[in-house]
Amino acid sequence: MIKTDIIIIGAGPVGLFAIFEAGLLKLKCHLIDSLPQAGGQCSEIYPKKPIYDIPGFPSVLAGDLVDNLMEQAAPFKPGFTLGEAAEKIEKQEDGSFIVTTSKGTQHHAPIVMIAGGLGVFEPRKPPVENLADYEDKGVEYIIKDPEFYRGKRCVIAGGGDSALDWSIFLAEKNIASEVALVHRRSSFRGHLDSVQKVMDLAEQGKIKLITEAEVVGLEGDGKVENVTIKHKTEGEIKMDTDHFIPLFGLKPSLGPIADWGLEIEKNAIKVDTRDYSTNIEGIYAIGDVNTYEGKLKLILCGFHEGTIALQSAFARIHPDKKNVLKYTTVNGVQGF
Ligand SMILES: Cc1cc2nc3c(=O)[nH]c(=O)nc-3n(C[C@H](O)[C@H](O)[C@H](O)COP(=O)(O)OP(=O)(O)OC[C@H]3O[C@@H](n4cnc5c(N)ncnc54)[C@H](O)[C@@H]3O)c2cc1C
Repeated sequence: MIKTDIIIIGAGPVGLFAIFEAGLLKLKCHLIDSLPQAGGQCSEIYPKKPIYDIPGFPSVLAGDLVDNLMEQAAPFKPGFTLGEAAEKIEKQEDGSFIVTTSKGTQHHAPIVMIAGGLGVFEPRKPPVENLADYEDKGVEYIIKDPEFYRGKRCVIAGGGDSALDWSIFLAEKNIASEVALVHRRSSFRGHLDSVQKVMDLAEQGKIKLITEAEVVGLEGDGKVENVTIKHKTEGEIKMDTDHFIPLFGLKPSLGPIADWGLEIEKNAIKVDTRDYSTNIEGIYAIGDVNTYEGKLKLILCGFHEGTIALQSAFARIHPDKKNVLKYTTVNGVQGF
């Protein structure tokens, strides 16, 4: 059981900045995110895009903003449970909460701060009939650790950056023993550089490139052993493999949070704008995941909401302590 002062669900920019504001109040945070890395939409959707409306930064790449937020939070030694969705919440008799993830990791804290953004990013799955039977038995939708594929035969499917970049990485660094890239069309959606690189590696025989084709079947005894690929002109091809990795992108959905008894409006959590608390005492919602009159889904608004919510959380955790607002210019940043 991981014990902390504040469980933050969602390690997007808003959840990350909340660690810093909590730290100033001497409150420790543990973050849960279903994605394998921190940064939410900034890391997952647009890491290389410049953002122009972060105060004090005329322009900052979304990925760099996430790096900076991690650096700013570091003195407060946050804990992270990554690659696991927060699925269940149970209120204890003393008003505290236990949050359990999709992999059964349990977290205990007096306060839960939901910074879940657009929700859990769920993988877009190809229409292969028995796909679910092989999930985590050779079928993966996210590459968390490329070393997992060392010496293995991999069939990657998709036409975007993710499919291209991982095919290049696994082939070029000689991690996978074989890499096949299967794509429905003859052209790719990814960066031109990456497309060229895949073509070069295909010419060198390091990637088997199969375009105008899609994986339509999976076979194997308890784990993936081969895939059936349907080619536009050549018909069905069977290929032996250890892994089938469809990388068709991720789509957000509010997911399990929608069933926690919170007041939901337009796929977002209703909050009281005095402190961004929800209808369940001890649970707050900040950033893109909340809704109220005049809500703007902007990073800077999420930063503000988190700051206010944490003052209220402090008062709940320490009802007998008076919190006097201290400027960082006066007190500096005293980490844990
Ligand atoms: C292309 C694009 C450009 C943008 N440009 C700008 C801009 O210029 N300026 C600006 O201010 N905003 C911009 N935005 C919006 C901005 O990215 C969001 O407002 C911001 O990401 C919200 O941050 P967040 O931390 O609330 O949520 P998110 O960034 O969505 O992060 C939420 C995290 O919570 C996780 N999560 C959700 N549910 C669970 C669960 N049950 N268990 C575990 N983890 C969970 C998700 O995996 C995710 O990582 C842009 C958005 C896009 C898509």
